[in-house]
Amino acid sequence: MSDHAQIVVDIEVSAEQAPELTNIVRAWLVGEHIIEQEESDSVLGGTGHRPGINYRAAIGIDTDGKARLQRLLGVAIVSPTWRAALEEAIEGPTYQESFLGLSTNGVELAVGRRVFDAGGNGIELQCDACSVSFEPDDSWFDAVGAWFGGDDLVSFPCPSCGQQALLTEWRGPWPWGFGNLGIAFWNWPPLSDDFIHAITRKLGHRTVRVRRHL
Ligand SMILES: [Zn+2]
Repeated sequence: MSDHAQIVVDIEVSAEQAPELTNIVRAWLVGEHIIEQEESDSVLGGTGHRPGINYRAAIGIDTDGKARLQRLLGVAIVSPTWRAALEEAIEGPTYQESFLGLSTNGVELAVGRRVFDAGGNGIELQCDACSVSFEPDDSWFDAVGAWFGGDDLVSFPCPSCGQQALLTEWRGPWPWGFGNLGIAFWNWPPLSDDFIHAITRKLGHRTVRVRRHL
């Protein structure tokens, strides 16, 4: 199967602050039992922390997926094959739990100046000024290269209205993140907005949420 990651990128922390802040957030996640303390080979190309016993605190509640299936079973005329499949879905692990069995399900705390791209999800941005959504052309990569080279103030113009914004401030349906600290949740179910807010408060900086697909 393919892998995906939800990455919370701190777009404000300095390179000097990042290691200490990483340890603070790691200790908080471990203390809340959202991740396990020990690191293991649970992320792609590095080490990560597997889900802890309280991992549900980080994810949105499945709005009664099983109850919906149960109702469907009650009202729908279904073939025996479908009935068996529905019953299995009701009895079996939920979508939220199924990632626990994956070999790649760790949380990686990546420190250091990095471009957190969306992988196979590509990139799609939206202009604050004119609301146009667009996929940037190759000049985007020139700006990304300049940022990676150390230019925090590199900007990029909207191709439609020309409005300039800092590279790091571009958002949209499929944004990229630029920063010195990214916390990647590999193959986790959708993180809840409450949890994103909690981790953002812990970081004490603004964050961008990148959805990466490989
Ligand atoms: Zn625009």
